[in-house]
Amino acid sequence: MNKPAELKLHTVPVWINGKPIVPAGRMGDVFNPATGQVIRQVPYCDASIVDAAAKAAAAALPEWRDCPPLRRARVMQRFLDLLQKNQKTLAAIITAENGKTLPDAMGSVQRGIEVIEFACGIPQLLKGEYSENVGTAVDTHTVRQPVGVCAGITPFNFPAMVPLWMFPMAIACGNSFILKPSEKVPSASIRMAELFKEAGLPDGVFNVVHGDKSAVDAILNHPLVNAVSFVGSTPIAKYIYETCAKNGKRVQALGGAKNHAVVLPDADLEFAADALIGAAYGSAGERCMAISAVVAVGSAADPLISLLERKAKAIKIGPGDKDGVDMGPLITGQHRDKVASYIEQGKKEGARLVLDGSATAMTEGFFLGTTLFDHVKPEMEIYKNEIFGPVLIVLRARTLEEAISIVNANPYANGTAIFTESGGAARRFENEVQVGMVGINVPIPVPVAFYSFGGWKNSLFGDLHVHGMEGVKFYTRTKVITTRWPHQDTPAPGLNMPTLG
Ligand code: NAD
Repeated sequence: MNKPAELKLHTVPVWINGKPIVPAGRMGDVFNPATGQVIRQVPYCDASIVDAAAKAAAAALPEWRDCPPLRRARVMQRFLDLLQKNQKTLAAIITAENGKTLPDAMGSVQRGIEVIEFACGIPQLLKGEYSENVGTAVDTHTVRQPVGVCAGITPFNFPAMVPLWMFPMAIACGNSFILKPSEKVPSASIRMAELFKEAGLPDGVFNVVHGDKSAVDAILNHPLVNAVSFVGSTPIAKYIYETCAKNGKRVQALGGAKNHAVVLPDADLEFAADALIGAAYGSAGERCMAISAVVAVGSAADPLISLLERKAKAIKIGPGDKDGVDMGPLITGQHRDKVASYIEQGKKEGARLVLDGSATAMTEGFFLGTTLFDHVKPEMEIYKNEIFGPVLIVLRARTLEEAISIVNANPYANGTAIFTESGGAARRFENEVQVGMVGINVPIPVPVAFYSFGGWKNSLFGDLHVHGMEGVKFYTRTKVITTRWPHQDTPAPGLNMPTLG
């Protein structure tokens, strides 16, 4: 029987050695979260497909590594132009598979494009150091060389932006790359691979495989893979970090979050509430930098809760491709049910439910309304866990000191923000808070591309953050070269430890 056109499925290919391939084997469903319908199939790659990608990446490496950085930068520049021209198409792909609204998807692609703009400066970024006369007629210089074959494993919530944190930096540095995007949102990566080829990237330098744990494990255990970047939930980040360390691979693994905003009584509460609403419910709360916990200090609490309640109620929920919609669905039905179960949990734990999103009924799709809890305590499960949905919880503190100690006691430490008119309070917060990214009257302090993104504690396993100079450091190894050109005046080398003399 012929299927109606709108139900016709196509399979998202992998991208190996510059070509799309649909491998045989296990397949998974890709959903449109706004309708709840399966829209595509995606191959779940086994070790043999990952091996083919790793071999293609290794074969492409020598020529790309030795390609002058300026020429690599020109390919990046053309890729940048093509991404800008195709920004709307990419955003539409993201909305169809992830559910976030089109303007939100456009913004996320824009933030990814900015990493390529930064990567276009790679000749400058790779410059080494030089010291003349470290000894008599002896000079020392450093070079930054690529690490080799690098891999990236990315989450569902930013189908283009998070991959763009990784592969443009790695490739501009002279590495080749294998990307394993989230199997829930596989198409944006393939579109980017096509555009990168069109920009002149040699075949094999960028490869994309799909799948679940089997594909990831094949990457982590592959002897040709030298470095792994991961972004996703904390338990998997920890697993990636430990497995890579065991296998002798360089690794950076960014994990989950519980981001707090501290609101002081002197803050402009209307401004703070608007900022918090966007930060809590934007992308349906499925952002690693979403504000999911507010710490309201002293007299700020009651008026802030009223403002949040009114503004959260006004959020328009619907399919992300419809005009006027503020918040789309969650990624899967299973995740929607998990978030809804936290709302039940919060009620049982005795938090005050100000607004109940589970009451929002939709005939189709994975929607959930906005939820607001007040009087949440640190020992409650709704505080201890990353909910990753449109649920904002409010804790109350008497002083700034108490608020800072709440934030610092939390095992996650991705982002945080303070709302205040006091420079002194903001400075104290900035100095004492133990979190990787801090906003002062800025609710989502995602650093721009020429700074580096990353949290502390359970939000990051590894040392180096992504993009900015830390990205360059992650994707390069430093070599130190000491040079002497012997001539009549220099003494012959002896057996003793060489010194300045
Ligand atoms: P996830 O950890 O479930 O999946 C991330 C990646 O790991 C995917 O590619 C997935 O296929 C793979 N994976 C899943 N289970 C695996 C397993 N058992 N073994 C090996 N690989 C596995 O995360 P998600 O649900 O896609 O994304 C949401 C999470 O990502 C949230 O916790 C969010 O905070 C986090 N996140 C963090 C950042 C950050 O910068 N710190 C950014 C975005 C998202």
